[in-house]
Amino acid sequence: MSLTWHHALLVEPCPVCGKRGHRLPLDIGANYPDPYAQMSEQDRWELGWVSAKENPDFCRIKYPDGQIDHFIRGVLEMPILDADSSLVLGVWATLSEANWNLARATWDEPDRTPEQPMFGWLSTWHRLYPDINELGCDVRLQTDSRPLIRLHDANHPMVHDQHQGITRLRLAEIVHSGLPAYEG
Ligand SMILES: [Zn+2]
Repeated sequence: MSLTWHHALLVEPCPVCGKRGHRLPLDIGANYPDPYAQMSEQDRWELGWVSAKENPDFCRIKYPDGQIDHFIRGVLEMPILDADSSLVLGVWATLSEANWNLARATWDEPDRTPEQPMFGWLSTWHRLYPDINELGCDVRLQTDSRPLIRLHDANHPMVHDQHQGITRLRLAEIVHSGLPAYEG
């Protein structure tokens, strides 16, 4: 397999660091949803749930007041307008408890994967897109890969970048800024 498949070459000087000839990764992701990534080790131990064994793409937080938040990891694709590829951001979204359970139950049973997208709230913050409060999205389960996440229409730069596509210069900005919850 060619490594270049996962990169886009930036011939122009990078708008962030000035370097030429960047090989920009097309696949970056966050290992945990932000609320979990921001917790102390002890809180994670007491309140959080991520099963490395069963499936690390599911996360749950049980708050002391009784509220329980459910998260799933998916991929948010942004088409790159001046390259024949897309940036794939690994991000998290909330799901209702019923949908979260359904997603887990059908994960290994492709025939039962629901066709209708599930509603979620985006739960991965990016430095270029600081305000993700109330960014709703469709979470569409796949039979052979992580769920596809498509942001609902909103006047927001991240929605614009996903729906309209990005240039390689914009890709350089996005990749340089990274994802705070990424720990890999
Ligand atoms: Zn650069």
